[in-house]
Amino acid sequence: EVKKNGKNGFQFFTPELNAQLHEKIELEGELRKAIERSELLLHYQPQIRTGDSLMVGVEALVRWNHPAKGLLAPGVFIPIAEETGMIYDIGTWVLREACRQMREWHRGGGPLIPVSVNLSAQQFHQPNLVGYIRNILEDTGLDPQYLELEITESMMMDAAVSAEILNELSQFGIRISLDDFGTGYSSLGYLKLLPIDKLKIDRSFITDITMNESDKAIVSTIIAMAHHLKMDVIAEGIETKDQLDILTANKCEEIQGYYFSRPLSATDVEAAFFAPMRINISGDDPKL
Ligand code: C2E
Ligand code: MG
Ligand code: MG
Ligand code: MG
Repeated sequence: EVKKNGKNGFQFFTPELNAQLHEKIELEGELRKAIERSELLLHYQPQIRTGDSLMVGVEALVRWNHPAKGLLAPGVFIPIAEETGMIYDIGTWVLREACRQMREWHRGGGPLIPVSVNLSAQQFHQPNLVGYIRNILEDTGLDPQYLELEITESMMMDAAVSAEILNELSQFGIRISLDDFGTGYSSLGYLKLLPIDKLKIDRSFITDITMNESDKAIVSTIIAMAHHLKMDVIAEGIETKDQLDILTANKCEEIQGYYFSRPLSATDVEAAFFAPMRINISGDDPKL
């Protein structure tokens, strides 16, 4: 019985658990080969300026084109990669590919916008992160100002350590954005100490914002705080016009969400570059 794990926390090893474990081990083995087999790819979700609906950035989001299971979302394999240490290789691949692609787009006449890349905690704490990223930028030719790293509040727990890393990155010209902002447990005090360029308001505050006064209050407070601290602010997970209207009324200058665009393949991003005034670009829309 899976559920009966109360009392002393003991859990019986059931057939279901056994099957789950098996699947995980299998996935782990396949993930080890995914990079060399070129099964990883990046999708890019546009970040839109509310004032003029222009794309002002893209977030790189990794996918795994699994030979049997099809396209897998990061939630399925990033945790495995983190548990097993594969996150270093995968994270390196993601950074290189995102920088290479953005540089190629810049050279091809695309808009001079930055690419945001998500970092896992282990990557953030790897020794000589700055030197490692500098190498990737030099190899790919991307200027540091066009790379934005997305980190989370939980990585800021040790303020002294994170300050050192972030100051170095920031002095090198890389932008730092705090992802899933508002969901962590850390104090707000670190915001004044660290060179953070942008707050990304977590989607969980946006989902019910049209009905929920508390969410609305939290979101408008985060936006106001960002402005006072001279940080940029972007809201994640905007799916409807009503949500957008609330964000706009609260002077949120950037948004990211399905309302404007789902994450797009590289090919679809290129199409979008040449139709910049068009909104509601959708990765699933064959008309694009
Ligand atoms: P995240 O960084 O917060 O990325 C935003 C996630 O929200 C993406 O899911 C995106 O597809 C989804 N999203 C965007 N707009 C909407 C919307 O309007 N509605 C809804 N329901 N969802 C929306 P995705 O691609 O599945 O990524 C999930 C998480 O996986 C990311 O959350 C990030 O934490 C992690 N991740 C993605 N790529 C990487 C990577 O290269 N490295 C690492 N370490 N983590 C990654
Ligand atoms: Mg992110
Ligand atoms: Mg996020
Ligand atoms: Mg999130």
